[in-house]
Amino acid sequence: MHCPFCGVEDTRVVDSRLVAGGAQVRRRRACNLCHERFTTYESAELLMPHVVKSNGVREPFNEGKLRAGLQKALEKRPVSTEQVERAIGTICHRLRASGEREIPSGEIGEAVMDALRDLDAVAYVRFASVYRQFEDICAFRKELDELEKQ
Ligand SMILES: [Zn+2]
Repeated sequence: MHCPFCGVEDTRVVDSRLVAGGAQVRRRRACNLCHERFTTYESAELLMPHVVKSNGVREPFNEGKLRAGLQKALEKRPVSTEQVERAIGTICHRLRASGEREIPSGEIGEAVMDALRDLDAVAYVRFASVYRQFEDICAFRKELDELEKQ
């Protein structure tokens, strides 16, 4: 691959390791001309099902949107980027494993809630309260009680 600093084609891989629970390869590369080093991440590009929104509109699955939603719920929580990437990998795997070409957006919401429940209780409640739009404080309290029981 071309060096992002000087543009020459002559670069080499100096280190390679698995990250995000094995879903990505992180490579350290070095330029043979200017000797700068840089990092690339490699992950498999697999076909994701299309998302069917509640109003019936179809749109391509957007991993960036998924990541942004998780990060928003996890704001200022003690969860590492590595854990977030692993959760995204788990969610994408689950959606692909359904084998469907189209999935309702609600299924993504459920998958996100399952992932957050494992990661961080506060983030889970944040996400669930927005996502489920708790009808009233009783429904919210019930969800909290369920969490405490676990
Ligand atoms: Zn270079």
